[in-house]
Amino acid sequence: MSDEPNLTDGHELIISYGDCELWGRCECGKSFGSIRPNQSIDEVLAMKWEKHVMLEVPR
Ligand SMILES: [Zn+2]
Repeated sequence: MSDEPNLTDGHELIISYGDCELWGRCECGKSFGSIRPNQSIDEVLAMKWEKHVMLEVPR
């Protein structure tokens, strides 16, 4: 899974920065929770987002 997933309309990963955490959510509104800045976006938020796109978004 090294290829970038194809982005579909309205399902881009959005990272927003809190005071001491990063929040991940999908453009469609689904939240992926928050991580600390020293955690990897790729390993936590992007993985949840990929699952969301692969399993929950009809292609
Ligand atoms: Zn979505």
